[in-house]
Amino acid sequence: MALRMSTLFLRTLREDPADAELPGHKLLVRAGYVRRVAPGVYTWLPLGMKVLGKVEAIVREEMERIGSQEVKFPALLPREPYDATGRWSEYGDLLFRLQDRKGADMLLGPTHEEMFCLTVKDLYSSYKDLPLALFQIQNKYRDEARPRAGILRGREFIMKDSYSFDVNEAGLQKAYDAHREAYIRIFDRFGFEYVIVKADSGAMGGSASEEFLAVSPHGEDTFVRDDSGYAANVEAIEVPQAPEVEVTAGPAHVEPTPDTPTIETLVAALNKDHPRADGREWTAADSLKNVIVMLVHPDGTREPLAIGLPGDREVDAKRLEVKVAPAEVEAFEEKDFASYPMLAKGYIGPGVLGESKSSHIKYLLDPSVAVGSAWVTGADEHGHHVIDLVHGRDFTADGTIQAAEIREGDASPTGHGTLKLARGIEMGHIFQLGTKYAEALGLKVLDENGKLVTVTMGSYGVGVTRAVGAIAEDNLDDIGLIWPRNIAPADIHVVATGKDEEVFVKAEEIVRSLEATGIEVLFDDRRKVSPGVKFKDAELIGVPTILVVGRGLADGKVELKDRRSGERREVPVDDIVAEVTAEIAEPDSNL
Ligand code: ATP
Ligand code: MG
Repeated sequence: MALRMSTLFLRTLREDPADAELPGHKLLVRAGYVRRVAPGVYTWLPLGMKVLGKVEAIVREEMERIGSQEVKFPALLPREPYDATGRWSEYGDLLFRLQDRKGADMLLGPTHEEMFCLTVKDLYSSYKDLPLALFQIQNKYRDEARPRAGILRGREFIMKDSYSFDVNEAGLQKAYDAHREAYIRIFDRFGFEYVIVKADSGAMGGSASEEFLAVSPHGEDTFVRDDSGYAANVEAIEVPQAPEVEVTAGPAHVEPTPDTPTIETLVAALNKDHPRADGREWTAADSLKNVIVMLVHPDGTREPLAIGLPGDREVDAKRLEVKVAPAEVEAFEEKDFASYPMLAKGYIGPGVLGESKSSHIKYLLDPSVAVGSAWVTGADEHGHHVIDLVHGRDFTADGTIQAAEIREGDASPTGHGTLKLARGIEMGHIFQLGTKYAEALGLKVLDENGKLVTVTMGSYGVGVTRAVGAIAEDNLDDIGLIWPRNIAPADIHVVATGKDEEVFVKAEEIVRSLEATGIEVLFDDRRKVSPGVKFKDAELIGVPTILVVGRGLADGKVELKDRRSGERREVPVDDIVAEVTAEIAEPDSNL
């Protein structure tokens, strides 16, 4: 049945919603696809449901194609399984926790490894039952710190999550490869440019993991590419340890450097008061900056961490977060300084940093700090720095950490040229989980020799509501959305214009004949609305083909308009079904 604008539950808005930042988000709200209920919580209106249904159908088809079976777990879950894996506490503030009337702890599922694992354990016991792949398309709940960009990062959102179960590594690899192929088909069908990048497997362990990122300036993820085809999320890049260099610096010496608590002021003072013998200018890269952050562990304990890195680089918050997970990172505040009197703010150096030094603060160095290299760094005394402090000779650290920002033009870790940076929206994540969850929850089966083996799992996610958001951001112009054909809420938007009742009768007939061939129609049959408003709404809503039934009827003509290119052409009414069928079979002009 055609969606009729006269009865459709829809009010398009002329003004941008105040809380929307991204163009696609604004248009999704203005065109009546979604409406915000609370930060990161959205209602899906009829047009939105159509689009969401198309996206879900693509995901479902491709999962079923690889033999994965659909299930649906509750979103409301008991605490115990999440205690067994440690995630009840590890999830920290991200988890929505609640209690039932008897006081039992429950949660709203942020992801479902535990539940899938336990259900397979309930029902299966032999290697003969495996391999198995299951998926669901279901609401997830995460109390995101920065719900932004509307449905791109929700606190309630829909994810397709799947899980594979195998008796050995080879089986897991096969399941992983099948999911990778399915994801390639899914994201090809979504029609946006995407990259597959090496991902950080974070606290979950070091197994293979890749992300599918939609290439977009609005993305929250930064990824790199080099000339050899290597692509990685910046979170996952391992900068190689700089090889040891020969010590050329003389003995370290402390110098007064008053009023130089920042790298900029320090460099200026060094060049003015402490010029180098060889005449080279001091730069920020000659200084070793020591950044202190506060880690907050899942059990609430707080532990400072010091990171030493070249002064011309910042700590990358996202790289740091994944390295210290499940701990969270907070600022080291004034009150924290008060409990560490040996830290001279603005002049902190390796003299006091390290588990065996006076602060007992763990001290980790950026891998670019070579053994043998000389640095200017804080002398742990206000207004003083130490020059020619050599790593390995004059100071050591407790280890290294991959947390410095990655920059365009940095050498690629593969050795092939330099890195190029771009931004992306994480659309999917495939991950060889291994035995971590099966171990924690006791998912074992008997193998061929009657021996109990722990099942090895894969975990695979696609952001379904996020996909709608990402597709919208990638398919729009100044006046509205322009959906790819396979995602659009309808195949064609038929607009009846004019006051003449005859036009509406004819349009009605055309709509019926189109529908008879299976074409999905959005029909603007409103009588008291001006043609101008109808065209504006059609452009805003973004069905890729618009059919105008109006004045031309007198000559037996209607007008077909391509929303993306703006091209119009007159078509004889009698040919309309054939013309529209041909038009919507055309490949998308965006692809
Ligand atoms: P992100 O880094 O963007 O927070 P994530 O690493 O937490 O994502 P996963 O836990 O791997 O994501 O979830 C699988 C997929 O679910 C993601 O690839 C993404 O497409 C989607 N997703 C995750 N969080 C959200 C959210 N808050 N809103 C909408 N979709 C999300
Ligand atoms: Mg997340």
